[in-house]
Amino acid sequence: MYDFIIIGGGIVGMSTAMHLIKVYPDAKILLLEKESGPARHQTGHNSGVIHAGVYYTPGSLKARFCLEGNKATKAFCTQHGIPFDECGKLLVATNELEMQRMKALWERTAANGLERHWLSADELREREPNIVGMGGIFVPSSGIVNYAQVTAAMGAEFQRAGGEIRYGAEVVGLQEQASEVIVRTQRDEFRSRFLVTCSGLMADRVVSMLGLRTEFVICPFRGEYYLLPKQHNQIVNHLIYPIPDPSMPFLGVHLTRMIDGTVTVGPNAVLAMKREGYRKTDVSPGDLFQTLTTPGILKVLAKNFRPGLIEMKNSLFKGGYLKQVQKYCPSITKADLTPYPAGVRAQAVSRDGKLIDDFLFVNTARSVNVCNAPSPAATSAIPIGAYIVEKVCEQVTLAGGKVPKARLPINSVEQGV
Ligand SMILES: Cc1cc2nc3c(=O)[nH]c(=O)nc-3n(C[C@H](O)[C@H](O)[C@H](O)COP(=O)(O)OP(=O)(O)OC[C@H]3O[C@@H](n4cnc5c(N)ncnc54)[C@H](O)[C@@H]3O)c2cc1C
Repeated sequence: MYDFIIIGGGIVGMSTAMHLIKVYPDAKILLLEKESGPARHQTGHNSGVIHAGVYYTPGSLKARFCLEGNKATKAFCTQHGIPFDECGKLLVATNELEMQRMKALWERTAANGLERHWLSADELREREPNIVGMGGIFVPSSGIVNYAQVTAAMGAEFQRAGGEIRYGAEVVGLQEQASEVIVRTQRDEFRSRFLVTCSGLMADRVVSMLGLRTEFVICPFRGEYYLLPKQHNQIVNHLIYPIPDPSMPFLGVHLTRMIDGTVTVGPNAVLAMKREGYRKTDVSPGDLFQTLTTPGILKVLAKNFRPGLIEMKNSLFKGGYLKQVQKYCPSITKADLTPYPAGVRAQAVSRDGKLIDDFLFVNTARSVNVCNAPSPAATSAIPIGAYIVEKVCEQVTLAGGKVPKARLPINSVEQGV
């Protein structure tokens, strides 16, 4: 019998495991991951940005976790010798409408308590000679890191403290009973007093194994990137972001300095034909059928029909994609856009057809389930893990269970855990 089982070896699951074993050092804890190693899905296919918290609604979990996560991720990396670069980020407005939207973002960054600097067109040019715009906002605390490396370090810390990880263990069945949860993989059956699920692109399917009627469904959105040739590694000094359209859920194609010194362009956002499919040609008839027959998703697609079509066109023809980046970096040419692996975002959509913007958790008496952990969940993984453990502690208290004693309190941010 385990005290806790965690499903999912992405950054959210690993962070939860690492926190849980700190709070319950004598507990028996198992993490199950279906792939052969950690971070094989969203966590290993992203932009690697340590977000500062520019965009998020003040007071939301997203805003709170991002601000805390920015500091905690850097502290964790420093503690574990993981390279990161606090290179800062520039949001660039290229026309009057974007200038207006930028002013709204300026207010929001103030409400979120961020250090930021308003740049005129000349100041922008001084900082970034290859970028053109009418003005910009400079946010110094944004950075870059390799999140697969961060996740592996979290896993190692969990194992050092006595936690157990099983890879190649896909959970195919769950049954919650009064005093335990039965967890079935293709080969084994485990029993645990409590369960935490952090299953990313499979969140809805894993939660429904518990017999819950989920009020959301995961809609997979591909994010496609290009890599700039090595001679462009110095093309920008910071991360360069467009001013996002507030009616759109994603941030727009940006220029990202990666921690290995290269620069990527992207990601866009197109409907994926397979949840965990990373090539353009990857299609899962089952996933596609589910996506296209879910009323909530169909409503989202109908509402965003025109921008969705444009994204698809730009995905198929480089010219449109190029235009988006040339708006603020005109020297990039079509030949500069070389192939780079895509990522797939797990975006929860409500049954009534809304993209769920904030983090979403669904709990039962013996389980905590992460149902929506969109960007910036990699940045925010340390405070998310701490938050999940708080929820678990509440459940343990309510159940009056036999779990070994907790060592509270946890303070993930200051310690960088
Ligand atoms: C294109 C893209 C760009 C992004 N850029 C950024 C960024 O720059 N900064 C940032 O902070 N965030 C970014 N994000 C968001 C961030 O990557 C994710 O929010 C974060 O990685 C989510 O972590 P996770 O652990 O919830 O999910 P995942 O990393 O997807 O992990 C879920 C894990 O659960 C496992 N699993 C699922 N089902 C089962 C099962 N039945 N049994 C066992 N295991 C199972 C999967 O194999 C997987 O390993 C980006 C995301 C994408 C896709």
